Amino acid sequence: TATTSHDGAVLITGASSGIGEATARHLASLGYPVFLGARRADRLTAIVDEIREAGGRADSRQLDVTDIDSVRAFVGAAREVNGTIEVLVNNAGVMPLSTVSALRIDEWNQMIDVNLRGTLHGIAAVLPLMEAQGRGHIINVASVSGLRVDPTAAVYSATKFAVRALSEGLRQESTVVRVTIISPGFTVSELTEQGGDADTQAAVREATAQLGLPASAVAEAIAYAVSQPSSVDVNEIIVRPTLQR
Ligand code: NDP
Repeated sequence: TATTSHDGAVLITGASSGIGEATARHLASLGYPVFLGARRADRLTAIVDEIREAGGRADSRQLDVTDIDSVRAFVGAAREVNGTIEVLVNNAGVMPLSTVSALRIDEWNQMIDVNLRGTLHGIAAVLPLMEAQGRGHIINVASVSGLRVDPTAAVYSATKFAVRALSEGLRQESTVVRVTIISPGFTVSELTEQGGDADTQAAVREATAQLGLPASAVAEAIAYAVSQPSSVDVNEIIVRPTLQR
């Protein structure tokens, strides 16, 4: 049940599963109007229905973050529904892991397109209007893979190091837009289901099943950053399972 009233929408990319879905549900339960995007529109509709039944405010639109026109349309639709946009959570991501020597070039490009270009597209679509309204908050979901590199994660890490770098640069440039990096460790989600080397993905899935955080733990970290007063910018939150090295 919604407990507080907040103005302006919280836009969440990749909200059809995992961390994005959990973040939408949690922020809606705190009273934030949420606007969900992802490619699987049927999933979004079902989540929106459940949030509304629980008393929250939610809407959705199909979104492909690799397509700047799709991202602009997503932001435009959120403005029509909610008026102002307070927060964008750039969460959509893919992680088809493999060694560099396997030369899975299509998957490298997909990681660059979704994880890095998708985040840049989100920034491009909201930054002018946040600057014009004199406030806003951009939250970029990176990873502990943006802080360290492991075998089979070279390209994934490269995209997440890049997301952290561009977040820090944006933070320094803007005096009105808050920028937060969220860097989770192993988290239960559907991230290992799409592509990558089968044995590697299975090993990560197994480790995550053993010790992974629930997606709700990452949603709580995002909610902490979102709920600060506008003079407080939480720059980065790193959240790992206690058992993760
Ligand atoms: P999920 O696979 O459960 O969620 C990923 C989301 O991204 C889905 O909603 C998916 O929806 C969406 N997505 C993928 N491609 C696109 C696209 N082109 N356009 C729009 N949406 C897209 O995994 P997580 O919840 O784990 O991932 C969320 C973020 O968290 C990612 O950035 C990931 O890198 C990061 N992360 C995850 C960790 C983990 O251990 N799980 C650890 C550290 C970071 P759809 O397919 O419907 O488009």
